[in-house]
Amino acid sequence: MPAFGVIGAQWGDEGKGKVVDFLSSNADMVVRFAGGNNAGHTVINDHGEFKLHLVPAGIFWPQAKAVIGGGTVVDPAALLGEIQALQARGVDTSRLFLSDRAHVVMPYHVQLDQLEEQARGNSALGTTGRGIGPAYVDKTARVGIRMGDLLDEEYLATRLKAALQQKNLLLTKVYGAPPIDLDETYRQALEFGTQLRPYIAPVESAIADGLAAGARVLLEGAQGTLLDLDQGVYPYVTSSSPTIGGGLTGIGIGPKDIKGVVGVFKAYSTRVGAGPLPTELHGGMGDQIRELAWEYGTTTGRPRRVGWFDGVAARYSARVNGLTSAVLTRLDVLDGIDPVSVCVAYEMDGQRIDYFPTTPSALERCQPIYEELPGWTQPTAATTDVGALPPEARSYVKRLEGLIGAPIDLISTGPRREESILIRPIIT
Ligand code: GDP
Repeated sequence: MPAFGVIGAQWGDEGKGKVVDFLSSNADMVVRFAGGNNAGHTVINDHGEFKLHLVPAGIFWPQAKAVIGGGTVVDPAALLGEIQALQARGVDTSRLFLSDRAHVVMPYHVQLDQLEEQARGNSALGTTGRGIGPAYVDKTARVGIRMGDLLDEEYLATRLKAALQQKNLLLTKVYGAPPIDLDETYRQALEFGTQLRPYIAPVESAIADGLAAGARVLLEGAQGTLLDLDQGVYPYVTSSSPTIGGGLTGIGIGPKDIKGVVGVFKAYSTRVGAGPLPTELHGGMGDQIRELAWEYGTTTGRPRRVGWFDGVAARYSARVNGLTSAVLTRLDVLDGIDPVSVCVAYEMDGQRIDYFPTTPSALERCQPIYEELPGWTQPTAATTDVGALPPEARSYVKRLEGLIGAPIDLISTGPRREESILIRPIIT
């Protein structure tokens, strides 16, 4: 004890990077547990502005170990690039550790991701094309390569030979692409192993020892609950489990170690890629929020789809994760928008429902039922004191809190670390 999950509670891009950076001042370890460099966490603090894709946002705090856990999939070139970029800007990376169980995103995963997405044509999932899905497929099919394997020449040769036999059939026979050269891939993989050796470690036992000694461990979520492979809206999901459940399996701890589960919500909704977004705003207000808030993907640069806050989805997310508290980000984006709407229920097939259906076809049939709340003209941007928020903004936060069903303990009023209102300590 104690571990705390910081979980994306919507469709990703909720501002987890900022929140984890803020909360890590009190953490001894900050651990990424799922996903790969399809995540893009933006952090703005005393060191500058950073886009982190694999390195946990806790890296900026001198007391915190930053750990990439076994449930992640890691592209070695991307990680090495990120480490170098951090070092070049004076960030100490000596407290970074990488689980020997994390799966390697191999160059052929990236190639297959792009070929598969092209082949889907009109049914494309909107993947980031970074090999994450195919790496998880190989993990499940038990032909994956793990970080520890990169350090064992003989074992790596056997594993890679088996994997490439399969991949080359797929590449040549299905996609008509040239085969991959085993020797070249093997040399490259060994080289990655050499470069990553200082970071690769059996981190799970260090986490367990830390927890036993009372260390505060923060589990840094990536993506969002509604993209969860099991609990999200399948097939418009990511290839891993961004929920707290994925946190437990991803770093090998039990539920008794969890002291708090914090859901990060944006004050409205966005999503990148295909799939239902019940409160989506087409044109008008949607465009206004997108431009005001610069809602374009950190990883892909794609415009994000924008909608009002969805209280039905939020309650679902609170249930799936057992949220003990919530964080609300980007409240400032709604400054000057009057009125603001919040979805409190859906109408499906002529009936009012207050649960979140998880099949795409049911969700497509859901019409949001909105409640209108007065907006606020006084800015909330950069406010650090809850008492200084305009009363309408406070009422908005209270309404969302009621819909989520967990206390909002932190409000973010800007992208910078200090633009935060901490209502109740979270990492204790
Ligand atoms: P993440 O993947 O959940 O970390 O989210 P992203 O980094 O993809 O997107 C969140 C964006 O919102 C980043 O550009 C952050 O700098 C920014 N951000 C985070 N919190 C706030 C906030 O409270 N207000 C504003 N205006 N921007 C924020």
